Amino acid sequence: MSTPKTTITGPVHLTAPGREPEPVASCRECLGFAVTRANARSVGDYSKVSDVNVMLRAHLREDHAEA
Ligand SMILES: [Zn+2]
Repeated sequence: MSTPKTTITGPVHLTAPGREPEPVASCRECLGFAVTRANARSVGDYSKVSDVNVMLRAHLREDHAEA
């Protein structure tokens, strides 16, 4: 915080891409998880992002037979 910024930047993504479970495009449940995750991230609620990832991962495993 030593350098004052005059412009507003978007949220910083702290996690590397590729580590999160990917929603299946044709699945409405997956879409719901993706939307919830995006909303949580947009407000900086990373604990909820993590929760959604856990639920999405379980859903992928149970309903899509993916890891
Ligand atoms: Zn799904």
